[in-house]
Amino acid sequence: MYVLTTSQTDRAHYAPSAPYADRPQAIGHAATISAPHMHASACTHLFSALTPGAKVLDVGSGSGYLSAIFAHLVAAEKPGSQGGSVIGIEHIQALVDLATTNLGKSEDGRKMMQEGHVKFVCGDGRKGYPEAAPYDAIHVGAAALNVHDELVSQLKNGGKMFIPVGDHEQHIWMVEKNEKGEVRKKKLFGVQYVPLTDAPTR
Ligand code: SAH
Repeated sequence: MYVLTTSQTDRAHYAPSAPYADRPQAIGHAATISAPHMHASACTHLFSALTPGAKVLDVGSGSGYLSAIFAHLVAAEKPGSQGGSVIGIEHIQALVDLATTNLGKSEDGRKMMQEGHVKFVCGDGRKGYPEAAPYDAIHVGAAALNVHDELVSQLKNGGKMFIPVGDHEQHIWMVEKNEKGEVRKKKLFGVQYVPLTDAPTR
């Protein structure tokens, strides 16, 4: 299993307190940085799609931590080869700014943003981010009421999506699109995420 603790992506740059405890932490604006075991689970389930050069969409990017991890996983394998890219979409501008600040705390984070390998944008992640679609991997960091068609349509053939779905009772679903464009959905395990919502009005 992939080990998330890398010297390049220190969780202390992203979690305001007890960064290495295996539990979610509040980051303001009713958002949380997910627990390390959930970040690890998301990476493990998406791993085969997170190859060097891959394009990733991280919906509800919050602290920016998982976007940073994805960016390291899809980075160029050797100098001169094609690096991947990650779009983190978040509907609260203050959290877009927070993620940008957090990634900017490390030299390689600043470099990844300068070179366009990671970009945080403000918008409704339920609609995805068609401007940079299609994606090899889509991660959704807040619970959806259903598997949004707009997200499925932004998956590449051969791509994978990890998405928590449900209201009171939530489960992780894996959505896979095969090379012919056929979609298969699989319900995995029970979870508790904050919901994907409309943006706050104030
Ligand atoms: N992966 C993030 C999880 C943050 S919590 C992390 O570990 O830091 C979920 C995030 O989803 C919150 O930041 C919340 O503001 C955001 N969110 C909720 N609804 C959204 C929507 N419709 N569009 C984009 N982001 C949304």
